[in-house]
Amino acid sequence: MRDIIDVVVIGSGPSGIMAAIAAAQQGAKTLLLEKGDRPGRKLLISGGGRCNVTNARGTDHIIENTPGNGRFLHSVFAQWSNESIIDFFTSRGVALKEEDRGRMFPVSNKAKTVLDALRREMVALDIQESYGEEVVEIEQTKTHWNVVTRNRKIQTHALVIATGGCSVPQTGSTGDGYRFARGIGHTLVAPYPTSVPLTSEDSFITQGKLQGLAFRDCVLTLFDPKGKKVTKEQGDLLVTHFGLSGPVALRISQYVVKTMAKFPQERFLPIVVDTNPTLNQEERFAFWQSAFHSSARKAIRNILREHLPDRFGELFLSEYSLDPYLEGAQVSQKMLKQLVAWEKEWPVQVTGTLGLEKATVTGGGIHLKEIEPTTLASKITLGCYFCGEVLDLHAHTGGYNITVAFSTGYVAGRHAAEYALYQPLG
Ligand SMILES: Cc1cc2nc3c(=O)[nH]c(=O)nc-3n(C[C@H](O)[C@H](O)[C@H](O)COP(=O)(O)OP(=O)(O)OC[C@H]3O[C@@H](n4cnc5c(N)ncnc54)[C@H](O)[C@@H]3O)c2cc1C
Repeated sequence: MRDIIDVVVIGSGPSGIMAAIAAAQQGAKTLLLEKGDRPGRKLLISGGGRCNVTNARGTDHIIENTPGNGRFLHSVFAQWSNESIIDFFTSRGVALKEEDRGRMFPVSNKAKTVLDALRREMVALDIQESYGEEVVEIEQTKTHWNVVTRNRKIQTHALVIATGGCSVPQTGSTGDGYRFARGIGHTLVAPYPTSVPLTSEDSFITQGKLQGLAFRDCVLTLFDPKGKKVTKEQGDLLVTHFGLSGPVALRISQYVVKTMAKFPQERFLPIVVDTNPTLNQEERFAFWQSAFHSSARKAIRNILREHLPDRFGELFLSEYSLDPYLEGAQVSQKMLKQLVAWEKEWPVQVTGTLGLEKATVTGGGIHLKEIEPTTLASKITLGCYFCGEVLDLHAHTGGYNITVAFSTGYVAGRHAAEYALYQPLG
C-alpha cells in the first residue's frame, strides 16, 4: 500500500478539476483539495451562469485573444486544445452549441451541466475530493511534498497548484497560490484587474445622462497622455453609472491599467469612441446631409432621435449648445461636421478601472520564465506543477480563459502524474 498520495491538486476550479482528471487517467492516486464547501464556484457564475466553456475557432485565434502571454500556450494546446475540450464534454453527454464569435456553451445554458459532468468523471476515476479543506502551507522534503491543511499534513510525490487568481475573491480565489509559489522561490508578476469595467468622471457619467445606453459594435481607441495611440478594440459598449462596460470596455481595460501605471501622475486617459465604424466620415456626412434635407421642417432633436441611440443626440445638442428645435433645413455645414465628429470621434476620459474584486480575470501571476512550457512544471523545484489563472496568463472574454484553465489543467495533471509514478513507493 502506498501511504504517499501520488498527486495532490490544490483548488477545484476548472484547471484543478481537469488536472485531477488527467492525473487519475494516468493511473495516479489523486486527491483534490478545495477550501470552499463545493467545487467550481467561479465556473458556476461564468458566462452569466451559462459557462462559455471554450471557443470553437482554432488555437491560433485563442492565442491571439490571450493578450496575457498567449504564445506560451503553443505546446500546451499541442497536447490538449479547444477541440479536446469539445470532445471531452460531448463524449460525456454534454451537448454544446456555438454562438457568435465561436463562443461555445452547453445546450442546457447552465454552467451546472458542465460542472456535473466534471464531477461524474472524478467519481468514475476514483479521485478523492475534500471540500472545506484549506491548504495553508506547502513544504518540500528530500523525498516528497507535505501539503499542510488546517486539519492535517498530507504527503505527496507531486502537487499541482490550481488556486486561481485573486479576482472576485468571494469565489475562493484569494491569491493563496502566489504565497505558496513565492515560498518555494518563484517570482510573481504583480496581479492587476483585467476584463473589468472602466471608470470615468466625465459629467455625462456623473450626471447619469447616458446611464444604461448601449452601443452596438463600436470601436474604442485608447491614447496615452502624450497622444500616442495605445490600442484599438471593437465590440458592444454599455454606459453605466460609473463609466463604461460591455465587451469592448472589458477588452481595452488591461491596456488602461498598464498605461495608467506607466503615467502615474495622470488622472485620466483619453478614449475616442467610433459609434458607427461601418461608414467613414465622408459617408456619414453625406448621410446626415440627406437626412436633414429630407426632413427640412422637422426639429433636429427628432431627426437625431431617429438615427442615433436614445439620449446620445440630446447630449450632442447640449454639449454644443444647439437649439433642439432648429429645423432640418437650418442645419449648417459646421454643425454637420460637429455631428459626424461626435458620432465617429466621441471623446471620453477614463480615470481607470474597477478593482480586482470586480474583474473577470486577474492579470499577472506566477512568472512564466520559471515554468516549463511543455509540462507546466516548476523550473525551480521538482514535483510542483501550476495551471490556470494562478499563472501569468489572461485572455479576453469569449471562452478563452476557461480554455486556458482546462488545457493547462490537463497538461499539468498529466505530467504531475507521470513524475509521481516514477518515484520510489512511499
Ligand atoms: C463573473 C465571471 C464570469 C466569467 N465568465 C467566463 C466565461 O464565460 N468564459 C471564460 O472563459 N472565462 C470566464 N471567466 C474567467 C474564468 O472563470 C476563470 O479564468 C477560471 O475560473 C479560472 O480557473 P482556475 O481553475 O484557474 O481558478 P478558479 O476558478 O479561480 O478556481 C480556484 C479554486 O482554488 C480554490 N483555492 C484557492 N486557494 C485555496 C487553498 N489555499 N486551499 C484550497 N483551495 C483553494 C478556490 O476556492 C477555487 O475554487 C469568468 C470569471 C468571472 C469572475
